[in-house]
Amino acid sequence: MREIDLHVHTTASDGTCTPAEVAALAQKIGLKAIAITDHDTESGYFEAAEAGEKLGIEVVPGIEISTKYGVAVHILGYFIDPQSPELRPVLDWVINDRNDRNRKMAELMAAYGLPFDYDEMRARFGESIGRPHFARMLYELGLAESVNDAFQRYVEKGQKYYLPRTIIPIEMAVETICRSGGVAVLAHPFQYKKDDKELRELIEHCMAHGLRGMECRYSGYDAQQVAYLEGLAEEYGLLKTGGSDFHGANKPTISLGVGKGELDVPYAWLERLKAAADK
Ligand code: AMP
Ligand code: ZN
Ligand code: FE
Ligand code: FE
Repeated sequence: MREIDLHVHTTASDGTCTPAEVAALAQKIGLKAIAITDHDTESGYFEAAEAGEKLGIEVVPGIEISTKYGVAVHILGYFIDPQSPELRPVLDWVINDRNDRNRKMAELMAAYGLPFDYDEMRARFGESIGRPHFARMLYELGLAESVNDAFQRYVEKGQKYYLPRTIIPIEMAVETICRSGGVAVLAHPFQYKKDDKELRELIEHCMAHGLRGMECRYSGYDAQQVAYLEGLAEEYGLLKTGGSDFHGANKPTISLGVGKGELDVPYAWLERLKAAADK
């Protein structure tokens, strides 16, 4: 029986299940704990935690911050104090920048005759809106075969409606998480297409700024990849974490708790994470 899933998106960012629905799903499939890790916002945690309390599911507060270190690198943060004076200005800045970019993207699409109105998107999707929401709407308009297809056709870098947003430096994300009482973890290390030497360089750079963990088990990572990442984590003294990156219907091949079928994250890893965060 699978125990935990420490990487879950909700409607607070680009997932399609509400935080309460995710907690209910976790109970249905027999998980003990989940972490809510929405992009650039912690706002989904509270609803999930309230639902989790009623259902007997432990809910961990988390976040996933997009950063840049040559390529796009994602940093997870667990047990951040949401009231932290260090955190708020950084997240507010990121969300404002997202909104400026998004509004321009909606205007660009409207100029091409598509029914996009950013105020309506805000009302429907909430505060942390990204390109996946645009992809979902383009798919709903019948302009693509799936959300993924819409993303690749229209909003991927280089495509017709793509506009960039400002990505914060990796040092700032890691340090902000640390200063906010959280534990910073390198997300899905194979996504960055780095060889062993480059990955070690990334880990060492992040550790110099306070990184304390690495996501070793992740949807689609096979046993050999997991063994390699766990070996690296042990060598560097990093906490091991794992999660599916569940997004509901926006990533239909990924299921909560089990990923693509191979994922299995032990509760003991959460206990160590909690101890590290002093929770
Ligand atoms: P943004 O931060 O708004 O520029 O959007 C980037 C986000 O889109 C990333 O964090 C990914 O999670 C997501 N993403 C990237 N590729 C795809 C895809 N093919 N389908 C759906 N979402 C994607
Ligand atoms: Zn996402
Ligand atoms: Fe990610
Ligand atoms: Fe994610």
